[in-house]
Amino acid sequence: MSNLASYAVSDCNTRGRVYNEVPPTGRSEFQRDRDRIIHSKAFRRLEYKTQVFVNHEGDLFRTRLTHSLEVAQIGRSIARNLGLNEDLVEAITLAHDLGHTPFGHAGQDALNQCMKEHGGFEHNLQSLRVVDILEERYAAFDGLNLCFETRAGILKHVSKKNARTLGAVGERFIQNQRPSLEAQLANFADEIAYNNHDVDDGLRSGLIDLEQLQQVGIFSRHWQVVTQKYPTLTGRRLVHETVRAMINTVATDLTEHSTQNIKTAQINDLTDVYTAPTLIGFSPGIKKEQQELKKFLNENLYLHFRVMRMSNKASHIIQRLFDAFSSNVRLLPNKHQQKFKHYGYQAIADYIAGMTDRYAIKEYQRLFAIGQSD
Ligand code: MG
Repeated sequence: MSNLASYAVSDCNTRGRVYNEVPPTGRSEFQRDRDRIIHSKAFRRLEYKTQVFVNHEGDLFRTRLTHSLEVAQIGRSIARNLGLNEDLVEAITLAHDLGHTPFGHAGQDALNQCMKEHGGFEHNLQSLRVVDILEERYAAFDGLNLCFETRAGILKHVSKKNARTLGAVGERFIQNQRPSLEAQLANFADEIAYNNHDVDDGLRSGLIDLEQLQQVGIFSRHWQVVTQKYPTLTGRRLVHETVRAMINTVATDLTEHSTQNIKTAQINDLTDVYTAPTLIGFSPGIKKEQQELKKFLNENLYLHFRVMRMSNKASHIIQRLFDAFSSNVRLLPNKHQQKFKHYGYQAIADYIAGMTDRYAIKEYQRLFAIGQSD
């Protein structure tokens, strides 16, 4: 790959894979990782997993799949401008939500609560578990055998307690080191994508409106520019032009501010990256605006009573499924009963976390609705 900065991750400085493999021909190590992720079962399931709105609520809302594609697009554009490894950013961003439960954060919180006595449930750790253990595709190993830096990027956060069980990939949490710039970028690309698409989906759903959004600095100032430029524009096009301009502003700011940080900290190689403070970041002004937007979305969209009602149903479904399986393991499909023998309660969490929204609803009906076939 050409045009890589000296501090980018590359095929030359990667810490490699757990199981040695013949290097790929015609593609880079990180393109191979990206390809393995796209062909995984967990990736296909993202299509039917919720971001904010449950999959059956409408065909135009983002799912975890379209969210992941948007994160990858934003991440790759910025990576190219920063001289970072675009393929690695793409691999991390496409994999970053693989461990998410059905029903978004409500599902994750419910499963974490259920697993409290058994080590808890962390979705980042679960994403790593999917690519390291749960995917069953290769003759020679469990999981996808991804490169160290891809795995490290997927493991965005983890508790120190769990980090100690993870070997090399957990070390940075114990030593308080930073991940690669590609991993740092993937994180921000995620934030840019969801803040902006939640504005778009929020408006589409009617749960928030344009009048409310005028209180939000970053929205109102872009809205003004767009309406001045196109005074007759209305409806969805006006929303799209505004959201488009917002994404452009924050992506450009992230590129410029991060470039400055890298220069100021005199970063030359990966070791410098790992030991320096976080280098990818927004300028203070944009950071403040992003926080304001997040606060707005939290109060007006994520905590909206209609979203809360769905979240409440989601927690109920997850809890009931977990209770049923843990009080009688024989209710699990045979394959998962076998896994229970090996992994204990974690096998129940793996089964539930792997479910799509609609599968979880169906499984709930099969277990609890009289007259439903099993
Ligand atoms: Mg995400």
